[in-house]
Amino acid sequence: MTKISKKFETELLKYFQKETYCSNKKLLDVDYGFTTIPQRTKDFLKNLTFENNYKISSDTFQSSYENNKQIIEDFFISLETSYGTNSRDIFINTSKNDTVQKTLDTNEEQVKVIKKFILKKYSSMYTNFRKTYGKRYIEMTGDNICPYCYRSYINVIESDEGTKSITPDIDHFFPKSRYPFLSVCLSNLIPSCLFCNQRAKNDEDFYQSSVYPPEKIFDEIEFDYDVYLNKIYIKNYNYLMSKPEYEMHLNTFLIQETYATHTEVLKSIINKHRKYKKSKIEDLTKNTIGLSSLDIKKVVFYEYEFMNKKRELLYKLKKDLYKKIVK
Ligand SMILES: [Zn+2]
Repeated sequence: MTKISKKFETELLKYFQKETYCSNKKLLDVDYGFTTIPQRTKDFLKNLTFENNYKISSDTFQSSYENNKQIIEDFFISLETSYGTNSRDIFINTSKNDTVQKTLDTNEEQVKVIKKFILKKYSSMYTNFRKTYGKRYIEMTGDNICPYCYRSYINVIESDEGTKSITPDIDHFFPKSRYPFLSVCLSNLIPSCLFCNQRAKNDEDFYQSSVYPPEKIFDEIEFDYDVYLNKIYIKNYNYLMSKPEYEMHLNTFLIQETYATHTEVLKSIINKHRKYKKSKIEDLTKNTIGLSSLDIKKVVFYEYEFMNKKRELLYKLKKDLYKKIVK
């Protein structure tokens, strides 16, 4: 994944650490309709592991994918120490619409309040970031194709007058509904297509197992086709399904099923190959001074020989099928 510039990173950190997003006394006393939030819950909220002086810490904001897992663990260890072993599940499964008993006299109710508080604070940070910086962030990452499916463009489109723009989604790799404290952590913000983010992935818990960066899965997948059935499939499917991280990706985004629908790619390569079989390329070579048959082949199959991985939809499918059919 391409990194954004240091300058932009600093600007964003400053934005997230501004006073509005500081869990100061006022925020901690926010009216949830409860009589009193217990002191130890207030203390817990004041000493969140991913914050520093009530603000998101730069370590959290700039944390790497591996470190995000550590942030999650550190937080849950401190939560479990204070509120018992089932507090992790309560936290993960509580949504902003859940009701809380007003007495707040059990650990469970207090954990729900903690979740609601963090959810509210970080949702608002993310929503405002999306509005203010979303477009710039997506452009800066330099990604053109959805890293989850590799079959949709995710570049920002703007009208000539600059009055309207269409932007792709920004997916939270570790879902914000479960881990709201990673809502604005840079390595957790993945520009992606709407299809993958809102239809396929949703709140799927990628913490348990996942491929990161997501496009890495296409280095592992080997596409093949059945010449009689005219069907595309993943050759090493069983091997991939035996690894939890690949299984998660293949099942979440239905990669094999999705790619099987792209028979137009298969047809196009087969047709071209038939049209320019070896003998014809040799004929062309004879009539073209200075070019070898290999040169001619490269010209004929230019669109497969010189693909730009960063801009070519279905890149791996095209690469594998071309290799099998033509090379
Ligand atoms: Zn996608």
